[in-house]
Amino acid sequence: MAFKLTPLPYAEDALVPHVSPETIQLHFGKHHRGYVDKLNETVKGSVDTEKSLEELIHTAGGDRFNFAAQIWNHDFYWASLSPSGGGTPEGEIARALKGAFGSIDAFKRAFGEAAIGQFGSGWAWLVVNQRGTLDVLSTSDADNPIRRGLTPLLTVDVWEHAYYVDYRNERNRYVETCIDHLLNWQHAERRFTEWRDLRAA
Ligand code: MN
Repeated sequence: MAFKLTPLPYAEDALVPHVSPETIQLHFGKHHRGYVDKLNETVKGSVDTEKSLEELIHTAGGDRFNFAAQIWNHDFYWASLSPSGGGTPEGEIARALKGAFGSIDAFKRAFGEAAIGQFGSGWAWLVVNQRGTLDVLSTSDADNPIRRGLTPLLTVDVWEHAYYVDYRNERNRYVETCIDHLLNWQHAERRFTEWRDLRAA
């Protein structure tokens, strides 16, 4: 069985004016698709073809880990952005953010600093830890918080290919735009309540 490219959850021009169709065509159509193709080449003929991306993230090393994690991270990134995203979260996620960071603005500052301050390629994450506390962190290259027992709620890709076409070298402007206009709080709320329900079960 081969790994497949998950379709984008919206049209290529859905994030205009914040992310251009050209960026999506490159980022989804070339980079993300490339990771799927490379993982399939790398696992061909081995038992890893039968595993899930999560299993490979937990157990694989080297290229198999890198390609599997990059596929998972990109699936999660597209779901973390929305044409109707940004603004102020509501519901349980808003209460949990205020509990962990003091205020929504303080969360936004912490998340922005993690994303802008990540040296080189990587990802910024909002996660819930095993005790149910929300936290912000960044990871390098393909690394993913689920390897550390954390549950991701949102991510922003800070590899240069995510912003170079639209924002050139201005990662800060790209990150601020994601926070102000694109973060999919409904996705975060769904992930958080799913995590809570699983823990209660
Ligand atoms: Mn990317």
